Amino acid sequence: MTTETQPLVAAESNIFAQIDELGHEQVVFCHDRHTGLKAIIAIHNTVLGPAMGGTRMWAYSSESAALEDALRLARGMTFKNAMAGLHLGGGKAVIIGDARKMKTEALLRMYGKFIKNLNGKYITAEDMGMTERDMEDIAQETSYVAGLPEYRGGSGSPSGMTALGTYVGMKAAAKKAFGTDSLEGKTIAVQGVGSVGEILIEYLSKEHAKIYVTDVFEERVKKIASRFNVIVVGTEEIYDVPADIYSPCAMGATINDNTLERLKAQVIAGCANNQLADEDIHGTACMRKGITYVPDFVINSGGVINIATEIAGSYNRAWATAKTEEIYDRVMQVLTVAEQQQRNAQVVATELAWQRIQNIARIKATY
Ligand code: NAD
Repeated sequence: MTTETQPLVAAESNIFAQIDELGHEQVVFCHDRHTGLKAIIAIHNTVLGPAMGGTRMWAYSSESAALEDALRLARGMTFKNAMAGLHLGGGKAVIIGDARKMKTEALLRMYGKFIKNLNGKYITAEDMGMTERDMEDIAQETSYVAGLPEYRGGSGSPSGMTALGTYVGMKAAAKKAFGTDSLEGKTIAVQGVGSVGEILIEYLSKEHAKIYVTDVFEERVKKIASRFNVIVVGTEEIYDVPADIYSPCAMGATINDNTLERLKAQVIAGCANNQLADEDIHGTACMRKGITYVPDFVINSGGVINIATEIAGSYNRAWATAKTEEIYDRVMQVLTVAEQQQRNAQVVATELAWQRIQNIARIKATY
């Protein structure tokens, strides 16, 4: 029972304050007792088009951690899609649970029904814990899903295109920092040799770079060492190796107070999402240390570009490749503005993304 002095909703729920702070348009909580589905779909901004971003299935430590992840990732997709020149807004979804134990056809199809009910405002694809095969299950219930296998006319795994974009973005950063975009003889520390890391190493090997690698999974490292001429180091050691370029391709927040003390690299260019522990503090710290940091959402957009071609009609690899290669120029543009203005490259990239969104919003303001 509430009294006049008690609010109807407990202040500690705090959800609307969080949504307000990051500026989301809509957040949908999906629940189904029968399948155990607990999902959160976060729609950040749909000025450029339907909100697009993958679904992550993860055993979050708490529901608030899941919400925070969905909100943060959806906002990141707004900037990524805008900077990639796509006609897509930003969104992301999380399913709470261990993908190895809880993922069933029924759960995925129930989730697909929730997406269907949004009538195209959100389009999903795969992210951590989800596969192309899972997209097929979701597609049984909704057409607002991409990243389907190539045998279904889809774009398949986005990792190859993400690796290509990371590679060309790294070359652009090398051009800025070293005066040449050749990576021959450059020492590159690749952290995480998963789907993207492996293909990136293939590009770097072909260019005769000297490559350090690390991964928490020994079998991944073994596979890479059997395929390429690489130097394997421990997961902590990767921050201390004498590298020209540090390429974070595993998890987020690896650029922080601790690692910035240790990194010797002049360039940071990798595919991981949310690399800066704090965008303002550590983006600025990179600049002050003379490190050319390539904003994550600019360099890792190859995957979503690949998916966007599938959404646009039918998958077109040539178009996706050409558009992904444009990441070279986009990185160059961001780094040039950051250099001219002596400002944090991450903040500069975010402003450029907002600029595009606002310019398009003005066009949409008239009939
Ligand atoms: P993945 O899961 O295939 O590979 C990540 C690898 O990093 C795994 O092998 C994992 O064992 C390793 N790893 C995890 N923690 C580590 C640690 N502490 N130290 C060293 N290695 C560690 O993922 P992926 O698809 O290759 O994606 C890599 C990163 O790029 C992720 O942050 C992802 O969100 C981001 N990203 C991927 C794509 C894509 O198309 N796959 C697109 C954009 C962004």
